[in-house]
Amino acid sequence: MFYPEPISRLIEGFMKLPGIGPKTAGRLAFYVLNMKEDDVLDLAKALVNAKRQLQYCSVCNNITDLDPCHICRDKRRDQSIICVVQEPKDVVAMEKTREFEGTYHVLQGAISPMDGIGPEDIRIPDLLKRLGDEQVKEVILATNPNVEGEATAMYISRLVKPFGIRVTRIAHGLPVGGDLEYADEVTLTKALEGRREL
Ligand SMILES: [Zn+2]
Repeated sequence: MFYPEPISRLIEGFMKLPGIGPKTAGRLAFYVLNMKEDDVLDLAKALVNAKRQLQYCSVCNNITDLDPCHICRDKRRDQSIICVVQEPKDVVAMEKTREFEGTYHVLQGAISPMDGIGPEDIRIPDLLKRLGDEQVKEVILATNPNVEGEATAMYISRLVKPFGIRVTRIAHGLPVGGDLEYADEVTLTKALEGRREL
């Protein structure tokens, strides 16, 4: 690189983000240089605050600034139904449907032997602990409709059934190989309604 060191470091910083190659990183870095100083400071503060103020909910593992999170705290929500999703952004997708009134469990990933991710590497043990502690009647498996998501759903269903708890899988209307977060609200609502027993 022939850039002055501060720019090189900024470019390197952007390149650590997913989907950003050297070209895009360079464009972003020069864009930042042309921004107003106040805007740059706001951006920097937002980055640091997001990292410092957010934590994982000790009940459901969703990202939150309060522990337990606002969903786990909400007494109006049906604590007997747990919807299992892979990522915090999937909770946002489900919440947008306004159809689901239970609680969530965020796995923070999916089982993926190819990437060396096993059941112990995601929040499956936490889920089993909740099933032992809480009065749960149904577990809805809303992992992504791709290979990893299906494998994770199958694995969890085998573990949950011995608890005598109903296990369902959302299915209807979701494109195979897709990501939950990209599904529109109508599709996701249909998927929830059309869940089947596992
Ligand atoms: Zn929570």
